[in-house]
Amino acid sequence: MKKLFVANYKMNGDKNFYLQVNKVFNKLKSEDTIVLCPPFVYMPLLKIKNKSVYLGSQDISANENKKSTGQISARMLKDFGVKFSVIGHSERRAIGETDELVAEKVMKAQNADIIPIICVGEENVGQNLDVITSQVEMALSKAENKEIIFAYEPVWAIGTGEQPTITNIKKALKIIKITAKHCGYSVKVLYGGSVNFSNYKAIEKAGVDGYFMGGVSLKLNEFVKIVKGE
Ligand code: PEP
Repeated sequence: MKKLFVANYKMNGDKNFYLQVNKVFNKLKSEDTIVLCPPFVYMPLLKIKNKSVYLGSQDISANENKKSTGQISARMLKDFGVKFSVIGHSERRAIGETDELVAEKVMKAQNADIIPIICVGEENVGQNLDVITSQVEMALSKAENKEIIFAYEPVWAIGTGEQPTITNIKKALKIIKITAKHCGYSVKVLYGGSVNFSNYKAIEKAGVDGYFMGGVSLKLNEFVKIVKGE
């Protein structure tokens, strides 16, 4: 099965960096799927001509026609060729994004034929994983039965160099897949949280459908090596 590699550039990079991203990914040969999520303003710099590479957004507005200063709607993202949207990243949940808002955003993305990549995960190391069940149920509460992707991202592992054991990643993946199944969805699940060139092969053993990467996505050579499975 094709693997999915998501680059979450967060609020990083500049014009030169995204022009370089363009060059690197347009010449990359891969059978897998790569999703590049730059900050909104840099999206027009990514002129993607590679069938394996797609444009993703780091967020999407839950609003459509309401007054929404500073927001970007699903329709606008679609206009710029966005195919995937990250929804419910922990850095957005930390500034007040609720499970209800996540559900609303999933619906808006799907209405525009944008595939949601929904981030879920526990906050603290050793925390009971029940929280994931409710995050998944809520995220799917207004969804349509189209393609949906989850990223298991333990919050404590993002950008810290820490990671759960393979057994615990497997456990979380199972919870997400089973909960989604109960809601009527068959979903792919990625792992995100301090993935790098030295650990991605070990993580693969947990049965992940791909990787959600922050820090390492800024190191273009290392990211490409991970995609190539070197
Ligand atoms: C993230 O941005 O969700 C992420 C997983 O970042 P990092 O790879 O740096 O931990």
